[in-house]
Amino acid sequence: MILQSAESTPGIRSGWSELCNLHSPMQKHVPLVDLHAQHAALKSKLLEAFERTLDRGDFILGGAVQEFETAFARLCGVSHGVGLGTGLDALRIALEALGIGPGDEVILPANTFIATALAVSAAGATPRLVDCNLDTFLIDVTQAANEVGPATRAILPVHLTGQCVDMDAILALAQRHHLPVVEDAAQAHGATYKGRSAGSMGVAGCFSFYPGKNLGACGDGGMLVSNDDGIAAYARYARNYGQRARYDHAVKGGNARLDTLQAAILGIKLPLLQEWNAARAKAAEQYRELLRGVGDLVLQEPAPGSTHVYHLFIIQTSRRDALQQFLKERGIDTGVHYPVPVHLQEAYRDLGYRPGDFPRAELLAGRMLSIPMHPHLTEETVEYVAGSIREFFGA
Ligand SMILES: *Cc1c(COP(=O)(O)O)cnc(C)c1O
Repeated sequence: MILQSAESTPGIRSGWSELCNLHSPMQKHVPLVDLHAQHAALKSKLLEAFERTLDRGDFILGGAVQEFETAFARLCGVSHGVGLGTGLDALRIALEALGIGPGDEVILPANTFIATALAVSAAGATPRLVDCNLDTFLIDVTQAANEVGPATRAILPVHLTGQCVDMDAILALAQRHHLPVVEDAAQAHGATYKGRSAGSMGVAGCFSFYPGKNLGACGDGGMLVSNDDGIAAYARYARNYGQRARYDHAVKGGNARLDTLQAAILGIKLPLLQEWNAARAKAAEQYRELLRGVGDLVLQEPAPGSTHVYHLFIIQTSRRDALQQFLKERGIDTGVHYPVPVHLQEAYRDLGYRPGDFPRAELLAGRMLSIPMHPHLTEETVEYVAGSIREFFGA
């Protein structure tokens, strides 16, 4: 459990012990994400799913995969869902399905998890990076427009932290240049933009079910969703050795299949997604109320037209590292998403970008702090976290 005010040693609460309480029994531990709380409530159902899968024995592309694909595609309001091994697989396969490869460029934000760029590289193409907006952390569409060139083959916006990119602007840009849009929705399960689901607005939407995502497996998982029959068919071949029918291989595919057991687990969790997202939003509202105007904190602005499913709750301060240390001493885990933007990663030295190329992404990398956010946060825990932040700033 997340909150343990273990008062097993009576009388220890003295002024002195409070001062020295780094590891005292009073110490609460607040994790960034609490999978234990999520699974505790579901344990018997998850074990049943495991037993059912064991009994059926359909471990590879079994019934649970198809059932979950159908259910998740319905949630997104699209006709196809193809269960894949990871979110990275979904992004790579979406690009490959569009025929994108060596010599081609794909536009994506510098401020994202590196997997977005790695998918472009894995397809053999070249990432073309653009900066983000300071207030929403999302791709700067105006700059994206300036980066479109003769080699551009697709635009890859990322619905980072749980808010959708301004898709009207992205889709208008894409239409002007006859480019497909692939959405990285790995942080945006259930988010909407003007009533449309994340993942349903481009030619393909890519999701990850990494355990810590808003909808997470007990292991790796991913999905490509699409209304395009051709893209979905390609993804089904590509995930399974290119196989169209037994021993009839249509394309040079790999192995990128969603595991049956993971699909069974995801099928149990899916009906809870909306409720979990609502719980995240409620905690976020409480954080906002308690943190408004505190110190030099800057809170994330709402992205126009989008709901927010709060995969992350990020605050900004010039004293980020000191605040992180202060919270650590109070048992509060935090994270930085992400400390080094894609263009400054050693893995992408070959692209030739330099410090200063994307000043907003770089500024944010030094100022952002992700504070605990998950559906099982209690009001008391949010108060404890926010209270500790206020204390740091003397507010
Ligand atoms: C998690 C994530 C991915 C990759 O998903 P995996 O399932 O870990 O491969 C891609 N893009 C973003 C924005 C993510 O947060």
